[in-house]
Amino acid sequence: MALTETVPAGAPPAHEGILRRQSLRESAARTYARSLPIVPVRARGLTIEGADGRRYLDCLSGAGTLALGHNHPVVLEAIRTVLDSGAPLHILDLATPVKDAFTTELFATLPGELSEKARIQFCGPAGTDAVEAAFTLVRTATGRSGLMAFSGAYHGMTSDALTASGGARHTGVTRLPYPYDYRCPFGTGGERGAELSARWTESLLDDHKSGVPRPAGMILEPVQGEGGVIPAPPNWLRRMREITAARDIPLIVDEVQTGVGRTGTFWAVEQSGIVPDVLVLSKAIGGSLPLAVIVYREELDAWQPGAHAGTFRGNQLAMAAGTATLAYVRRNGLDRRAAELGARMLARLGGLAAAHDCIGDVRGRGLMLGVELVDRAADADPTGARPADPALAAAVQRACLDRGLIVELGGRHSAVVRLLPPLTITDEQADAILDRLADAVTAAVRTTPGPLGSSPTTLRGTSA
Ligand code: PMP
Repeated sequence: MALTETVPAGAPPAHEGILRRQSLRESAARTYARSLPIVPVRARGLTIEGADGRRYLDCLSGAGTLALGHNHPVVLEAIRTVLDSGAPLHILDLATPVKDAFTTELFATLPGELSEKARIQFCGPAGTDAVEAAFTLVRTATGRSGLMAFSGAYHGMTSDALTASGGARHTGVTRLPYPYDYRCPFGTGGERGAELSARWTESLLDDHKSGVPRPAGMILEPVQGEGGVIPAPPNWLRRMREITAARDIPLIVDEVQTGVGRTGTFWAVEQSGIVPDVLVLSKAIGGSLPLAVIVYREELDAWQPGAHAGTFRGNQLAMAAGTATLAYVRRNGLDRRAAELGARMLARLGGLAAAHDCIGDVRGRGLMLGVELVDRAADADPTGARPADPALAAAVQRACLDRGLIVELGGRHSAVVRLLPPLTITDEQADAILDRLADAVTAAVRTTPGPLGSSPTTLRGTSA
């Protein structure tokens, strides 16, 4: 069957029928499909081709999954090798050569102190399954129940599944302020804001009347992804490590999105030098197929056999694709490449922000970049931040799609345009991405009134 269409004269294009049937048959909860009404039929590297024959630069990368882009030859080769070998494709958590190779490759990438004494648990296939496993692990190891987590965090969708299960025993999560420089919860920003967040955490833990018992663990993202591409300052991460270590609280670092070179080092924690007690991993470790694990200090391994189970923990194709991806990133220094190219892209985004007063902030680490769109007509608060402008962000996303660029929105108000390109992109592709984005921002500000009904304005320093 031809994937791209040849349509008889007068008939509606086939991809329109597919999109119409999707909107009639799929749930109202569908997400990406709403803002990206395309029908992908082929993909390679950065590029996706739609059924209508249009080509797109894909900076969503399967929500940050595709470290090597779509259908990288080493990934396809690894998958074919397993298929041709006659190995079982589904095998619960039994030992296999494919799994053995994956574990060896993964352990070779871990921060030294962790890899020497690490245990790995293969979880259900999604990132959220590994997050649940991490919580169960630290609760079992510490005998405590509560958890500490951060404002703006995203760790998955399944906590209610456990809460609703017969064996549910735990609920309490204490929410702590994440150091969000542009919208600092303490109104100071910078290192000072991050330090106040650390002190707040300390005081909750040490004040016997704070109402917060010592938790089973603390979970954080080194760069909040869905929360709006917010990198935590290295000093703050080190403070969190000290605070948790001094109080015997396991630190769980969720590297589901930041892992495998994305932020400029193989694991984002390397930039602060902290060694977590538990690392939560998914997305890129499966080389585009579903795979999730936790890796943790062996002292925490107080689980009984079967304490954390799941049917789909043995996806051999994902393990082979993952091994190939990890090895390719490591051998080709794609983490360093992400750091260099990401810094250049961020500098160019800084220029874009200087030219457009609707861009409040640009930020990121490596090839995890964000552009926060704000209401250009509103007054800035004392720290210089202006209210988010989700309508403008949606208009930028649409204008990007019109120009053949797929971007994701994130952040507290869905006003942060997120770029998560494959680590394999060339300099020219990076330029093409930024050219299209710049063009899309200019087009969107021309056509979108501000949230307060302000008239459309365009470039900084010019009148509308
Ligand atoms: N943790 C982080 C940091 C994530 O970004 C995500 C997904 N975006 C998850 C956990 C959940 O992963 P999944 O969607 O595979 O359950």
